[in-house]
Amino acid sequence: MNQEDMKHCNNCGKLISINDLYNYKSKDVLWCETCANNQYNNWKAQNVIEETIEIKEKRCSICKHVKPAKEFYKDRTSRTGLQSCCKNCSNKKVMMWRKQNIKHTREYAKNWQRVKRQSTAST
Ligand SMILES: [Zn+2]
Ligand SMILES: [Zn+2]
Repeated sequence: MNQEDMKHCNNCGKLISINDLYNYKSKDVLWCETCANNQYNNWKAQNVIEETIEIKEKRCSICKHVKPAKEFYKDRTSRTGLQSCCKNCSNKKVMMWRKQNIKHTREYAKNWQRVKRQSTAST
């Protein structure tokens, strides 16, 4: 057999015909069928565990209820890909924040007007 048709598996180093090699993700990484299958199974097993345990259901950090993943907003920065509190609590939080902010801006405006009035009264 032509030597150029044979390649080493990047994982186990087994010399194997290029027809039996897998292109795994990129063309630079060559795997034999066994290694490619093992890698795929490992990857699948890890992802299944994450999906069933971490992402299917989640306990809300605020109301402490266990809710399905669809009751949570997505958060790419978190490990589970979901926010720590449910949509319900998240909405409440935003509303509270808005209310507080409106209060703040109103108070700020009031103070500002008072200051303005005082300054005009003194002159
Ligand atoms: Zn291999
Ligand atoms: Zn909640």
